[in-house]
Amino acid sequence: MSFPKTYYIETFGCQMNEYDSQLVETILGADGMIPASDKESSDCLLLNTCSVREHAEQRVFSLLSQHKALKNNNPAMKIVLLGCMASKHQDELLHRFPHLDLVVGPDGYRNLPALMKAEKNIRTTWLGNNPLEEYNDIIPAHTKISAYIAIARGCDNFCSYCVVPYVRGGERSRPADSIIEEMKQLASQGIREITLLGQNVNSYRYNDCDFAGLLRRANEVDDIIRIRFITSHPKDLSEDLLNAMAECEKAAPHLHLPFQAGSDRILRLMNRKYTRSEYLELVDKVRRFIPGISLTTDIIAGFPTETEDNFQQTLEIIRRVRFDDAFTYRYSPRPGTAAAEMPDDVPEEVKIDRLERMISAVRKIARQNLQDLISRKFTVLIEHKSKKDPDWWMGRTEHNRIAVIPKEKYKPGELVEMRVETIAGFTLKGAIEIEAKPIFIY
Ligand code: SF4
Repeated sequence: MSFPKTYYIETFGCQMNEYDSQLVETILGADGMIPASDKESSDCLLLNTCSVREHAEQRVFSLLSQHKALKNNNPAMKIVLLGCMASKHQDELLHRFPHLDLVVGPDGYRNLPALMKAEKNIRTTWLGNNPLEEYNDIIPAHTKISAYIAIARGCDNFCSYCVVPYVRGGERSRPADSIIEEMKQLASQGIREITLLGQNVNSYRYNDCDFAGLLRRANEVDDIIRIRFITSHPKDLSEDLLNAMAECEKAAPHLHLPFQAGSDRILRLMNRKYTRSEYLELVDKVRRFIPGISLTTDIIAGFPTETEDNFQQTLEIIRRVRFDDAFTYRYSPRPGTAAAEMPDDVPEEVKIDRLERMISAVRKIARQNLQDLISRKFTVLIEHKSKKDPDWWMGRTEHNRIAVIPKEKYKPGELVEMRVETIAGFTLKGAIEIEAKPIFIY
């Protein structure tokens, strides 16, 4: 029999899944497989899936149905489902989709080559949580200026609406040495910006190294010029971490700090372990330590029993904190979670209405925030050509805002200073300062 030689990966969901897809590419590449230019011509089609929202799962179910035609055209093609949906739906997926060959959970990716090359063309699952699996020795494939590094996997927080602790298992932190080693290797490959990833980076701990300690060590890695991290649970954001962010010149002045809901009663039902006033005090403290920091957040509309008054408290927090951006969601029950046992009693049209009001409040403030930046200077790490105009570069400021600047003599990977001239949509447009020097060239 002929073994699959090419693969194509479709990725859904969060940054951790994007990182895991790069990890899978490295595992398959080490086994001699190469990426296919499109899914139709691939020997193996992998879907790396997300279970966090119902909508994301429905999209994958619909794609899986469509992929039956690909298999009909090419019966040798292997179709593999990875990620959180594998852990959540397990064998049921093989029954429901007879053209699906393999279902492999997030801790089983090392087994992919062997499973894909099994002598007998078996349809099987590789599931289960392996608390020892941290993929420490695998450096994911990268082609860009920025890269993710997973520093912890799983979660112990059990927010009542969230499926992650069930599908990704308990939290485990990677050894700091292996994270720093990965950063150094990435730097030697031309990566200049690192985003440290974890479901809750603030509770990272390996032996005596906590997240503040890790950030300080990361700041010392040569040739990495910017460090970001995501996601921060408010209950674990320590003063020491804020000190580390303020001290470390490479730590980007941006914090993604999900608040989820504005009412104490809803926050209790969500098991978020902070109150509205604690969240607001924390925001004030963050701004005292790092003036001008950009704050973004996650918010859910229509959690069980949420009233209009409760929702108004969510809007009040949006207006008070003045976030630069937010991931906003309409609540949908995830089977197996504590919230799924609560009455899903906010009518769909009310959820949609609240979501729209929430989005409109966030966007209005985000636009106002951007207008305040006109004439101000920021550093931009150049990433690639602007999609709209090939004579301009696209990059990101230290606050994680998208910026476009004229190409001039600069190249991707360089850090330049720009002065903002106009705002186009949510993009800063400006000129490179005449006196500015590229800070780093590779
Ligand atoms: S902190 Fe809460 S929302 Fe985030 S992954 Fe853990 S359980 Fe889910």
